[in-house]
Amino acid sequence: MTQKIPLCDLTGQYAHLRNEMMQFFDKICSESAFIKGKYVQLFEQNYLKCMGADYGAGCSNGTSALKLALEVYGVGAGDEVILPSHTFVATAEAVRHVGAIPVFADCKMTDYTICPESIKRMITHKTRAIIAVHIYGTPCDMDEITDICQAHNLLLFEDTAQAHLAQYRGKIVGNFGHGASFSFYPGKNLGAYGDAGFVLVKDATHHETLKRLIDHGRLAKYDHEINGYNERMDAMQAGILNIKLPHLTAWTTARQAIAGQYDRAFAGDDRIGLMQIANHKQAVYHVYCVRVKNRDKVIQALNDNNIAYGIHYPDPVHVMPPFRGFTRDNMVNTEAISAQILSLPIYPEMPDHFVERVIKTMKGVI
Ligand SMILES: *Cc1c(COP(=O)(O)O)cnc(C)c1O
Repeated sequence: MTQKIPLCDLTGQYAHLRNEMMQFFDKICSESAFIKGKYVQLFEQNYLKCMGADYGAGCSNGTSALKLALEVYGVGAGDEVILPSHTFVATAEAVRHVGAIPVFADCKMTDYTICPESIKRMITHKTRAIIAVHIYGTPCDMDEITDICQAHNLLLFEDTAQAHLAQYRGKIVGNFGHGASFSFYPGKNLGAYGDAGFVLVKDATHHETLKRLIDHGRLAKYDHEINGYNERMDAMQAGILNIKLPHLTAWTTARQAIAGQYDRAFAGDDRIGLMQIANHKQAVYHVYCVRVKNRDKVIQALNDNNIAYGIHYPDPVHVMPPFRGFTRDNMVNTEAISAQILSLPIYPEMPDHFVERVIKTMKGVI
């Protein structure tokens, strides 16, 4: 049997970072510096600098990050929040967690991000906010979405869990809205060795609320001003992310190069539907997604050739039990693509001969 090609493989990256990590593990354990403290502070500084942002904080995971962003800006009971149905379920969960009402919009057929025209159809007098999800690492139509938010006086949030360092017209995503959430789930483009997340906000006042919400309502010991959570970023994860962050640009470039190889190999093959990403969007390919009509047959061929695949995601969120009945638009595009989408292996250390085997298998079968 040929060597297995995984969808994502973190072992090569660890082998490269192992010495540095071991030294850090020994240091932090010797110091017992597990909660808050210097490693978290340093990562917050480093990540803000990397994002070109002024205010933000580490937190426990990407789902809590989005919930915190919404709560910091007072989104809650009675508010409608427009979000794409074509996303990971966590985006919708966060809306429900603050007591708001999710209203699902359709996606575009070109790059599968939220459709601005569908957003417009969903706006009512109860609409309070829009969540732009940069799905697969592809920036949403930020000009159009920003215009809609300004015209209707809406808050704008970005779910940037899959899109670290993606750019729209040269500006890093996460900087367009009032708040933005990031995930450092291990398999994300920047991944911790466990759960971790990050929230960006726009000013010092909201930053203070954010810090309080993350840590039991306090800024200092026993100063419990508001009802908060324990949703702190672990110092262990912060230290790990400090070691990884300097590599993020190179890892991103490597993903883009593999996506380019796939794009060139599949171009002109009308059996393989490629994402059509506008020139002013610089995607970071958390997922490399193709659309195929005979998906079962393609999956069979991938299995036969020992190649892993993914489906992101098998069901749109608006058909999942907790989220039924929240749609008002017809989800034509979202439902059309969900039966055809297929994610191919992509990760920075993926060897060339793996990429070639995936290409050959895809072109041979389809
Ligand atoms: C991963 C992900 C999340 C949730 O992040 P966690 O860190 O796993 O909680 C939210 N939204 C999207 C689009 C994601 O891909």
